[in-house]
Amino acid sequence: MAVLSSARDRIKRSKPLLDWYQNAARLLPWRDTNDPYRIWISEIMLQQTQVKTVLPRYQTWFATFPDIATLAAVPLDDVLKAWEGLGYYRRARFIHQAAQHIVNRHDGAFPQNFDAILALPGIGRSTAGAIAAFCFAAHTPVLDGNVKRVLRRWHEKPQATERELWTLAQQALDASACPANWNQAMMELGATLCRTKNPDCAGCPVSNACDSAFKLDVVKQIKSNIRIRDVYWQVHLHLDAEKGIWLIQRPDSGIWAGLWTPPITELAAAPGQKPCHIHLLTHRRLHLYAKVSDVPSNGSGQWVADISEFALPTGIHRLLEKQQVRPCQAN
Ligand code: SF4
Repeated sequence: MAVLSSARDRIKRSKPLLDWYQNAARLLPWRDTNDPYRIWISEIMLQQTQVKTVLPRYQTWFATFPDIATLAAVPLDDVLKAWEGLGYYRRARFIHQAAQHIVNRHDGAFPQNFDAILALPGIGRSTAGAIAAFCFAAHTPVLDGNVKRVLRRWHEKPQATERELWTLAQQALDASACPANWNQAMMELGATLCRTKNPDCAGCPVSNACDSAFKLDVVKQIKSNIRIRDVYWQVHLHLDAEKGIWLIQRPDSGIWAGLWTPPITELAAAPGQKPCHIHLLTHRRLHLYAKVSDVPSNGSGQWVADISEFALPTGIHRLLEKQQVRPCQAN
């Protein structure tokens, strides 16, 4: 493989980046612990969800599910309900499965070996690397979206493949004495200075070893490259003054898997009206059109008088608010 970083550059980056991290790191509760349960939950919550959204939910999670055994024993619906507002509910389903896996196959103790961590449902190589490094001092790199961007910019390689990036990430980590701090520093650099737009090269501790530093054309090229598709959904609001709102549970896979929503049909194209609400997912922009009807609904669903007892996606909560269907009491 052609992509290799020079030892000189690796050394040039290592100490300045770690020194900067020691002084500039944000105080975040998951950085005060090496408990693998807490690190695991924080890593999963932080995938595709912003820190400010995660912070309050991280604290309440452990009040609801203080340990892995408790989490494994509750019904999935309780976990989905606790996940409400964080989005991408597949993560909550995997967390529940992984907790049961840990109880059944590891006697309730979080596995310490990288391969055993990687075998848990919903845990990929980067998350396994984070847990192994933060909790068990393993020399395993993290390669999330922020770290990929940093590595591509350091090496001025916009087209670097996943495989090349893993090699670069491992080389960079191996040049550092502390894998936990190195991984945290890389993620922090990507989140705070080497941002997708407008990176702060002037304030960057490793600008003298970065091939893209101050090259705005290159930096712009190396940003998130996600293509978002527009989707148009008709949301059928069957309302009844006595019984509430008609909800169905969505299938186990796909968007909003396992959550409760009013019946939804996909439209072939945008109708000639403004959507009631637009909800953004990583790869989809959902245009939601409300269609209110008092016609009794058939099919597999149920009348729900109090929607606060069900796990609904945030996009549906927003739509109901805009339709002035009271969010905690539908009728
Ligand atoms: S110098 Fe600029 S582009 Fe390079 S790592 Fe630092 S912030 Fe990112």
